[in-house]
Amino acid sequence: MKFCPKCGMRLSPINKKKDKKKIILLTCPKCGYEQPTTPKKLTLPEDTKQTSPKEKITIISKEEAKLRTLPTLKTQCPKCSNNEAYWWMVQTRGADESTTQFFRCTKCGHTWREMA
Ligand SMILES: [Zn+2]
Ligand SMILES: [Zn+2]
Repeated sequence: MKFCPKCGMRLSPINKKKDKKKIILLTCPKCGYEQPTTPKKLTLPEDTKQTSPKEKITIISKEEAKLRTLPTLKTQCPKCSNNEAYWWMVQTRGADESTTQFFRCTKCGHTWREMA
């Protein structure tokens, strides 16, 4: 709540049209003092900056969630010797029913493949 700097009356907001744009003015009902309100649009660029890193985080977590749903298999990682890895199949185009089996180590994230 804002008060008139001239007479101390409570300012009441009124809508006014200025340059085809709607603006809100705080006016004093006693002496007619007018005070333009701070445009709220100025806060928008800050909001956009705040939301963009959040979006990136969401994308990463989605991919991680996708990865977590992959089945695991007892197989030895050639890099760190961990004995569990995620696996999925990829059908190779062109080749006759050729399927490549991919593995990703649950420990170090190393990815390798084997021809089926
Ligand atoms: Zn006033
Ligand atoms: Zn590994």
